[in-house]
Amino acid sequence: MNKQKKVLVVGAGIGGLATALRLAKKGFKVQIVEKNNTPGGRLNQIKKDGFTFDTGPSFFSMSYEFEQFAKDCNIDLPFEYHALDPLYTVSLRGNPKPYFLYKDTARLAEQFVDVEPDFEEKMNAYLKKAEALFNDTIEVIVKRNFNSLFDYMQAMMQVNPQHLPVLTRNFYQQVSQYFSSDEARQIISLVAFFLGRTSFDTMAIYTLLSYTEFKHDGYFNVKGGMYAIVEGLVRELEKEQVEFVYNSEIVSCKYQDSQLTELIDNNGVSRTADIFVINADAAVFRGKVLERKKYTPKKLDTMSWTMGYLTLYIGLSTKLPQVDHHNYYLGSNFKDYAKQIMKNPDKLEKPYYYVNVLSKHNASCAPEGCESLFFVCPVPTLAYKSNWDDRSEIVQSILDDFSERIEQDINPHIISKTVYTPLEWKDWLNLHQGSGLGLSHTMFQIGAFRPKNYDEQFANTFYVGASTIPGAGLPMGIISSGLTTERVLNYSKEV
Ligand SMILES: Cc1cc2nc3c(=O)[nH]c(=O)nc-3n(C[C@H](O)[C@H](O)[C@H](O)COP(=O)(O)OP(=O)(O)OC[C@H]3O[C@@H](n4cnc5c(N)ncnc54)[C@H](O)[C@@H]3O)c2cc1C
Repeated sequence: MNKQKKVLVVGAGIGGLATALRLAKKGFKVQIVEKNNTPGGRLNQIKKDGFTFDTGPSFFSMSYEFEQFAKDCNIDLPFEYHALDPLYTVSLRGNPKPYFLYKDTARLAEQFVDVEPDFEEKMNAYLKKAEALFNDTIEVIVKRNFNSLFDYMQAMMQVNPQHLPVLTRNFYQQVSQYFSSDEARQIISLVAFFLGRTSFDTMAIYTLLSYTEFKHDGYFNVKGGMYAIVEGLVRELEKEQVEFVYNSEIVSCKYQDSQLTELIDNNGVSRTADIFVINADAAVFRGKVLERKKYTPKKLDTMSWTMGYLTLYIGLSTKLPQVDHHNYYLGSNFKDYAKQIMKNPDKLEKPYYYVNVLSKHNASCAPEGCESLFFVCPVPTLAYKSNWDDRSEIVQSILDDFSERIEQDINPHIISKTVYTPLEWKDWLNLHQGSGLGLSHTMFQIGAFRPKNYDEQFANTFYVGASTIPGAGLPMGIISSGLTTERVLNYSKEV
């Protein structure tokens, strides 16, 4: 019956691709329109000068969500992944020895022996609480559609009241309940950055991420690079005759009563469908294309957005045997830096950054004897720093700092260099103010408060991706596709 119903998916990010496959498998006729000339959205790749670079995600967690997705679609997962251990390394300025973040707490504890007495006991207690937070919220809150605020509040009431004090703390404060050294506090709370804010403005409830990284599952790399996820999904979609249209940016719409009827792209081409699934940012699209008053540019500016990213894609004509695959480089002023970095561009003088050596596990991503590096530096969004004329100086300060930290000058070996500031991220993917992960996960921007995955006016229009529920990150994109599919199927049964 669904075969006759046409679904138009706007955007070929992980959320759009996964929803398209779920719906195609249910018998819908699916077409995907994408603004750019490749699928993947933020999960993309750059091929340049003989190197391959992942543009955004460099690892993922919650592998079981991908496995469940494959099961739901009745396919074998179309890419291979392998677990990371250590998960990553963290280097603090002035300390020549990086910390290796092993999943084994005893092994992890050995590295903190000089700074944090009884680290292992403390870590186990911290993770036990993180596990309880995870178990008590994941099914009840995170992986659920809510039809109203009341519905959401009722779900919140089901959460064990023993977690109430956690709601009054930020991530850093929660970690500080267990650890007393600056080193342990900074390193264990670093995962808050994965949600696009600092540990000082991320809610303590998200310490559940520590459980997902250290205990429940871990982090995973994809064989051949992260883009193999997109290539695999596209192969499966093509088997289902899903049609892709590239270089088509939806800019306006037509509707009748409570039904969206047409979406019109920047080339003037109009497309009709029975059902529309929007993978473009759920807040931005409502404002820009549907012209909703709640999401005008001014209103969007008043919302809380995740930080911007300065990303560098560097090809080196040499190997870096001393550098691990995933590495964080922090300075010696963590608190001050974290408190200022979202808004104060001056703090970019001595930036904190992450370096991924893609060619470590994926030799094909760099020519023989070469290395493919990806740097991510959290920076203010365009709301706080709109001028990036100083990009070269900032980039050079990162490259110099990295060279100093690894005791090898990489500058003479750079044979490929690409830089994206929030300006490029904004224009490329329509990310508001160049915010890297979309809307922040603050108390009043999660759950029923986040832009909904169903439209307020059009009964046949749904949303999927980072700025609707549950939030940012690849596994959340997969969960989001499941929740949106549930909505589409329910709607489809009713009409
Ligand atoms: C630098 C960086 C590093 C990251 N690292 C990780 C990581 O290591 N692990 C992890 O799990 N997550 C990571 N993330 C987060 C992850 O990339 C995102 O949460 C996820 O990819 C978002 O997917 P999405 O489908 O919601 O949106 P997107 O990937 O943004 O896809 C939306 C698509 O819609 C298209 N579009 C927008 N507007 C229109 C329009 N009007 N018409 C047509 N098409 C349109 C866009 O071009 C885009 O292709 C990272 C993100 C960044 C930026």
